[in-house]
This record gives sequence, C-alpha cells and structure tokens, in this order.
Amino acid sequence: MTILYAAEPEEATQWTDSLAALDAQLPVRFWPDWGDPADIDFVIVGGRSPGDLSIFPKLKAIQSTWAGVNHLLRSEGLPAGVPIARMVDRGLTGSMTEFVVYQVLDEIRQGPELRAAQKAGIWLEQIARQARDVTVGILGLGTLGSDIAAKLGSLGCNLRGWSRSPKDVPGLTSFAGAEALPAFLGGLDILICLLPLTGDTENILDAKLFAHLPDGAVLINVGRGAQLNEADLIQALDSGRLSRAVLDVFREEPLPPDHPFWRHPGITLTPHVAAITRAGTGAGDILENYRRAMAGEPLLNKVDVMKGY
Ligand code: NAP
Repeated sequence: MTILYAAEPEEATQWTDSLAALDAQLPVRFWPDWGDPADIDFVIVGGRSPGDLSIFPKLKAIQSTWAGVNHLLRSEGLPAGVPIARMVDRGLTGSMTEFVVYQVLDEIRQGPELRAAQKAGIWLEQIARQARDVTVGILGLGTLGSDIAAKLGSLGCNLRGWSRSPKDVPGLTSFAGAEALPAFLGGLDILICLLPLTGDTENILDAKLFAHLPDGAVLINVGRGAQLNEADLIQALDSGRLSRAVLDVFREEPLPPDHPFWRHPGITLTPHVAAITRAGTGAGDILENYRRAMAGEPLLNKVDVMKGY
C-alpha cells in the first residue's frame, strides 16, 4: 500500500510532514519516483495537472489537496472509474471567509476612496454605508459560499445566494438554476463568485450577466479565472456598470506583466492567495480517505465527475 504524492517538492514536504505527524509509518513515494506502478494505490495531487495516472493499475482513489478540481478533471490519462476526492478543510474555508469578508467590509467602509484621498492629501469626510444597507449576492452556496453567507449575515448584510439546487439558509434568499439568475442579480451591491469551474460556469461573468446588475456594483471573483470574460469586465468598469472588481484568480497565472488588469484603476488584484489548504488541518481527512479507499468505503468529499465538482 503506497501513496504517491504528485506536486511541487516544497508543497509535497509540507503535506508529507503533516501526514507523518499523524502516521509515521505511512508509505509515501514522490512523483516521478514511483518505482513499480503496481505499488501505488492512492495518489495525492496538488494544483497542477498530475501527469498520466492511468499507468497505475491498482489505483483505488485520487485525493486533491485543492477544493477546485477543474484542472484535475481535464487532465489527460485520468483513469475512468477511480473515485476522486476534493479538499474540504476548515483552514481553507476560514481563510476564504476572512478574505471575502475583508473585501466586503473594505467596500462598505470606502477603503479605496479613503486610501486615494490620503494619497492626494484630501480630508474625505463622508459617512459610510452600514452592512445592513448593502445587498450581497453569492454565486455558489457550497462549502465556501455558505460559510461566507453565515459570517456576512452576522454582520447584517442582506444576502442572496445562487446555486443549482435551492437552499434553506436562515437570513438568505435562495435562487436556483439559470432562469433565476437575472432576478438574483437585480439589486445587488456586491457580487461574489465562488462557483467551481465547469462547462456551465465557464465565462459566466460576462456582459450579459453584468447587464442585470445595478450601475456601480462591485464584483469579487474568487472562483476561477476562466469564469470571467476579461474584455467584458474592462468594458463594464469603463462604462460604470461596475465600479470595482476584486480579482484573486485569472485565466493565466501568474498574470502576465503586460496584462491590462495590473494597471486598471477599477481593479484590485491578489495573486490567487484568497485561500489555500492548510496541511495541518487538511491532513486528517486525507488519511481518513486513504483508510476508506483501502477498505473499499465511500470517500469523504467525493467529486461528482458528471457535475464537474
Ligand atoms: P462546493 O462545495 O462544491 O460548492 C459549489 C457550489 O456551486 C454549490 O452550491 C453548487 O450548487 C454551485 N454550482 C455549481 N455549478 C453551478 C451552476 N451551474 N449553477 C449554479 N450553481 C452552481 O465548492 P466550494 O468548496 O465552495 O468551492 C467553490 C470553488 O471555489 C472551487 O471550485 C474553486 O474553484 C474555488 N476556490 C478558490 C480558491 C482561491 O484561493 N481563490 C480557494 C478554494 C476554492 P449546488 O449546491 O446546488 O450543487
């Protein structure tokens, strides 16, 4: 029974240290030194495409250390029928919630305007809105979106959520399915994208969607870069349809140095750091999934390959 870790060496060390702290006997090998492919029955993959996993004839499960598995599902040589688990980690969830709440509060408390005013030596004395004056919509009400909704709700924001299936979340108005998207968007001050990247959500943040938002709305995209039509965003910002965009994810990462997003005055960008899985908190579930895979039991946080998340 051997685990193979397929990732960058620094990332791998962090994980194997945390796994070894839980089970010092765990037999781990590192990509690409897998030895006999028939020894490998569990593969842990990080944020990059792992290489051809179909070469391991006894593979019982694939565990992602990332919450989003779009890159994995699109990788070549993904063996059909081998279950895939994604990462659900309280360290990751907590970081994402902190990031999004911080960005929402920065917007409500006029952070960008006040920083610009300080730079210009202007005493900008104007009364900020309060959370209860603001309507926030969350695209994606899964592990991450629902935690953010709970925290923003406790601050007093008016909340809407959009998902495939309707949700019953106290203090939140739920919208489900493509037909409900325009009604969800109308009246939002802040739109947060926390959708997984699938065939249905690719390019979802485009001119058609922005047209349903009120003028001056703010976009926070922490889902995936390929969900955003970049040219449509620039146009929406330049026309005033959107007043600002906070972007953590991009089509091409790292964002190329000549990309217009770097210098656009309406864009705040961060280098895909909103939330990363913490090995210290995530290793326990990986070990549990390893045990489950060996026992032939259903995995925790199993990906629905048909749905794509
Ligand atoms: P999750 O638990 O799988 O939740 C996904 C949510 O999206 C669900 O509510 C789902 O609806 C909804 N959804 C999916 N496809 C949809 C569609 N076509 N129409 C409407 N709703 C749809 O995922 P999560 O753990 O919250 O993570 C979400 C994403 O965040 C990840 O996939 C990843 O891309 C991104 N992420 C980013 C970072 C970062 O650092 N920027 C870090 C971690 C994750 P149902 O509930 O009805 O199924």
